[in-house]
Amino acid sequence: MNTPSDIVPFPIVDGQYRMEREPIVRIGVILREDDKAEVRFAVPGAGYVLEGSEGALPAGEVLSVRVEAGTLTLANTAGAEVAKAGVLRIMPPAGAQGRKAGDGVLVKEMVAGRGFHWKKLIDQTLTGILEFRADGGRVVLVNELPLEEYLVGVVTGEMSGACPPEFIKAQTIAARSWLLAQPVAPHAGEPFIWCNDDCCQRYQGTGGWSAEARDAVAACRGEVLITPSNHYCDARYSKNTGGISEDAENVWGTPMEGLVSMIDAPKGSAVERFFPVTESNIEEYLTGDWLKETDCFAGPNVCRDDELPQYLGRVDEPGTYFRWRVPVTQETLRESLVQRAGITDLRDVLALRPIRRGRSGRLNQMAVDYRAADGQRKTHLLNSEYNIRAAMRTSFLYSGAFIVADQRYAGEALASATLVGGGWGHGAGFCQIGGLGRALKGQSYAEILLAYFSGVRIERIYD
Ligand SMILES: [Zn+2]
Repeated sequence: MNTPSDIVPFPIVDGQYRMEREPIVRIGVILREDDKAEVRFAVPGAGYVLEGSEGALPAGEVLSVRVEAGTLTLANTAGAEVAKAGVLRIMPPAGAQGRKAGDGVLVKEMVAGRGFHWKKLIDQTLTGILEFRADGGRVVLVNELPLEEYLVGVVTGEMSGACPPEFIKAQTIAARSWLLAQPVAPHAGEPFIWCNDDCCQRYQGTGGWSAEARDAVAACRGEVLITPSNHYCDARYSKNTGGISEDAENVWGTPMEGLVSMIDAPKGSAVERFFPVTESNIEEYLTGDWLKETDCFAGPNVCRDDELPQYLGRVDEPGTYFRWRVPVTQETLRESLVQRAGITDLRDVLALRPIRRGRSGRLNQMAVDYRAADGQRKTHLLNSEYNIRAAMRTSFLYSGAFIVADQRYAGEALASATLVGGGWGHGAGFCQIGGLGRALKGQSYAEILLAYFSGVRIERIYD
């Protein structure tokens, strides 16, 4: 099954966004780029079969799928061949569904955090159908399962299953809406539609499941954010707004229905005087004394930094999400600007100059003044929030809402500086830590979602 680049996974025809039944999703969980010639797994009990064959697979035994010249070989623990084909589908017993953490087939050493500094190998347990495919000399694994079961894996992968139920419902509906809203298949030409990582949505099977998370997902089954024009809301989300969320247009260059900059705090909050954040008020917004008492939902007075780790996803790194400081030097800047912004003739960085910010203070245009290899003074423009964050640090800067402080010079060149910033991620749409703060303050999932997505409504689109 190939997915051409113009396919809309869930098209809305004639304004009809309701569905007759819960959809099945196909998620790529081991990809070509993971470069695996062999995958080991174990089925948890009786009744798992290889599609098209009679006998059950041996339970509890570590089986392997190896690829050679485009053909997969399924072997048992002793290494004896069980089956050989281009596609192998492992089918669960009829009626099987995930109920608790660890349910499903155990797949060893899967990649999490592709392309990020925290990339690691973890064992995962997966419900639904496992479809192994040969891709040249590599194994690709597709997990085919009902949308709702997938979503329990997403909400417990993005954040922890220990979060309050109203938060989990809000995160679930955002994740469900995002998935349905995608205007084109994100992985054109692949045998799956979405992948299991931050490129799409983080999904790590049943490993992080909790009864609370499963119940919260079930309680909002089929509920989706619908925009005023009767489309699924492209409900983007990120970790922390920093106090004010961003307009979609300032992140992705195009406006998106419902994703409009807003103040992420109760009415009358001190943060209101910074709306919009501009070059003249951003220093006070990021560092002022008002922060000590701030009631911003994503701030440390609502959910303390030391309480946050229990709520974050299993592969998230602890950090200060609301306000942060990142020291940089001439050497680190040169390295990231050459590697990630492609300024190959850079000899010395002279200055970093903010040019244009969105309403949350996130930069979407910045100038880098530098001395080139030939001695000429030059300026390189970084356009887009993403490119700016990529260029400031080899491991990606937390957000685009920052100022350049504590500048020290060696002659004309910038010797060192501190990037002082706020928020974590693009900041448009749903804020995970702010949503958590709102839930801890007693808000319902509908209140939370309608705060972050303006003008949308919540509808159940299948039973
Ligand atoms: Zn993806």
